[in-house]
Amino acid sequence: MGIIVQKFGGTSVADPQKIHNVAKAVIREKENGNDVVVVVSAMGHTTDYLIKLAKEVTSNPNSREMDMLLSTGEQVSIALLAMAIQSHGYKAISMNGQQVGIITECIHSKARIVDIKTEKLQKNLKEGNIIVVAGFQGVTPEGEITTLGRGGSDTSAVAIAAALNADRCDIYTDVEGVYATDPRIVPNIQKTDIISYEEMLELARVGANVLHPRSVETAKQFQVPLRVRSSFKLDNLGTLIIGVENMEIYKPVAGVAADSSQVRILLANLPDIPGTAADVFGALAKNNISVDMIIQSLANNGTNSIAFTIDEDDLDNALKILEDVKKEVKAGDILIDKDIAKVSIVGAGMVDRPGIAADMFRSLAENNINIKMISTSEIKISCLVEKDNAAPAIKALCKEFGLESSEMAVVKGDLPNV
Ligand code: ADP
Ligand code: ASP
Ligand code: MG
Repeated sequence: MGIIVQKFGGTSVADPQKIHNVAKAVIREKENGNDVVVVVSAMGHTTDYLIKLAKEVTSNPNSREMDMLLSTGEQVSIALLAMAIQSHGYKAISMNGQQVGIITECIHSKARIVDIKTEKLQKNLKEGNIIVVAGFQGVTPEGEITTLGRGGSDTSAVAIAAALNADRCDIYTDVEGVYATDPRIVPNIQKTDIISYEEMLELARVGANVLHPRSVETAKQFQVPLRVRSSFKLDNLGTLIIGVENMEIYKPVAGVAADSSQVRILLANLPDIPGTAADVFGALAKNNISVDMIIQSLANNGTNSIAFTIDEDDLDNALKILEDVKKEVKAGDILIDKDIAKVSIVGAGMVDRPGIAADMFRSLAENNINIKMISTSEIKISCLVEKDNAAPAIKALCKEFGLESSEMAVVKGDLPNV
């Protein structure tokens, strides 16, 4: 008998019928002889609704109060799921992040988990309970409620699996596993049976939102075997994400993803002296604003310009900070470009294959897609394109790198905003 952590996303618990289906999937695992901890997200689009509500009250909601508000979504679904499991005659107990002891840093809206207390979980499992835990939320050592960032329930589940030394963490969702790209954009896309932590981590970071990036980071760090599988086809094994060593790499590109949630900022006419970049990015880092792509270029007049991308949600904060930095370092204008999407290809097989980047750029050019910025890492190449070009770019790149399939993927739920 082992410990299995299951996680069900918002679409899987969107209404009472679906909550009963989840209860049956949980009971099935219990009947297999396992101890079960199940992590759930808020029902359907509850989190989006709560964010909209807050923005209707004020255009700039306080981040502490946002976490108080958003954490309520998961509290509804855990209670309902525990009731559903109990109605089938099984022992279940719901617990929020504070009750479990999911301890995080005090960074509202994007807190990182620093510790998970296992005493109450162990005690309840010993008593025969199925434990239903609220995903996406935690508590600081001072008792402040935090949330982990959008899609963060995946990370809650993996972190709990790591803390309990669970046998497996199964992420149940509305598709049948990890595909080479979002099957809502390319329905005839190949499904991946097995993928390494490294490739999955890069894919998640560049926009494959089937998994929260930090969930993969945590799984990799603690070697938690992770599965992404379908909540409507319980017998399908989905995709296994593990540490793969010496696996023969047949394909240079494992997946393609796009991220439309960034903005590009250009700082023009910066003095070309040591310390300018450190001042700009130091000020952003001090305020927990992560910077993604960065390009610095030298103009003819001896000044630099620096272009970089950040999350759209951080834009207002970043602009306030940059106005101050601009005065300090005597920079020129600050220009904003919101019409961007980052399209990336990821694959361990692209190491030492220099032609892959050229193939990507040619494929985009053949589809009349202009590239605004490029960045590369060992197993990833990203191009910034106009937002409207994100989906055509993904389709072109899947074709270019042989990722299409003769079978159509099965997808439940609404269409994504790409
Ligand atoms: P949940 O509510 O279960 O957490 P999400 O919406 O966060 O579900 O994640 C599932 C969605 O991720 C799918 O419906 C799919 O549209 C999207 N997705 C993006 N990239 C991929 C990919 N490479 N493979 C599978 N799904 C993907
Ligand atoms: N409910 C949160 C969200 O919608 C967390 C999650 O679903 O993982 O982002
Ligand atoms: Mg999700």
